[in-house]
Amino acid sequence: MRNIYDYTLEELEDYFVSCGDKKFRAIQIYDFLYKKRIDEVGRMNNIGSYCQKILQENFSFKKIKILLKQEDEGVSKYLFELLDGERIESVLMFHDYGISICVSSQVGCNMGCRFCESGRLRKVRNLEAYEIVQQILLIEADIGKRITHVVVMGIGEPMDNYDNVMRFIHIINNGNGIGIGSRHITVSTCGVIPGIEKFIHEDGQVNLAISLHAPNDEIRKKIMPIASAYSMDDLFEVIKKYIKKTNRRVTIEYIMLEKINDMDCCARELAKKLKGILCYVNLIPYNETENIGYKRSSKAQIMRFYDILKKENINVTVRREFGGKVDAACGQLRANNTLSKGEV
Ligand code: SAH
Repeated sequence: MRNIYDYTLEELEDYFVSCGDKKFRAIQIYDFLYKKRIDEVGRMNNIGSYCQKILQENFSFKKIKILLKQEDEGVSKYLFELLDGERIESVLMFHDYGISICVSSQVGCNMGCRFCESGRLRKVRNLEAYEIVQQILLIEADIGKRITHVVVMGIGEPMDNYDNVMRFIHIINNGNGIGIGSRHITVSTCGVIPGIEKFIHEDGQVNLAISLHAPNDEIRKKIMPIASAYSMDDLFEVIKKYIKKTNRRVTIEYIMLEKINDMDCCARELAKKLKGILCYVNLIPYNETENIGYKRSSKAQIMRFYDILKKENINVTVRREFGGKVDAACGQLRANNTLSKGEV
């Protein structure tokens, strides 16, 4: 049985019409699930017994569950267990502008970025849309507050699970449900060009973030296998197309890896590449992990890099650092809790 949280509003409408019920049942059900947060069919009191019977017999209402939560300085990291026992994670952050959540899109990842835990563990499977939707619902229930911003930047490569990620966005974007505006949603990719091409043609104004992490192909190829499939020139062509279509500012993510991509000459080269492109650079202090040998750049070098970009009039921020108590890097919580599966 397909999970109820996997359905777009339009699909539910079609479903109930095809069963000879009313189209507006779908809005009523969305209202219960996403506004009133009621998931027991018996408590959906105004939908009629026929609709209740359809729901009970044809839909699964099962939820993923929170296994573990780590909190530190306004950041909470959640480890979830999926219905088949697989594990994923989400990160919750409190900002002055709202509350954001970083969701996972796959169990593991096949992109193989050398510095990344999730790449090391490889992809087990794609997440279904309902498994991404439920990350939001469970965390909102946990904190008793509504999330305002969503980034698809957790475990996985969203462009490698394109249809389910777009379905997820469609579901949470609907005003009859969770209603998170497309401008408050960001999809982050390591640069899978065919996915970005498709993404450009989607409706709405969903933001795009690119994990660039290098100023040229040579360095990029050393740390990101995807760079061997798509050149940076081609990547920038498609980024420009996105900007032309949406007029939205693209986020360029840049992990600071000591003596790999953090030298002054890298900053200057990056500035040159980004000149005239509507974007901002987010410098990410690398979260070291014991399983991988890369080192985080020093604070001083991160600031030098920042200053060089700034001087060249590139918009740049340094990602706020999270306390060491949280295994903050993408995939670390899962990686460190995979061997003990079932015991947490
Ligand atoms: N696959 C997508 C989204 C998931 S990775 C992408 O590549 O954008 C999310 C971000 O975390 C990426 O920018 C990734 O490069 C970065 N990341 C991975 N491991 C990290 C680590 N140990 N420290 C800091 N950032 C990391």
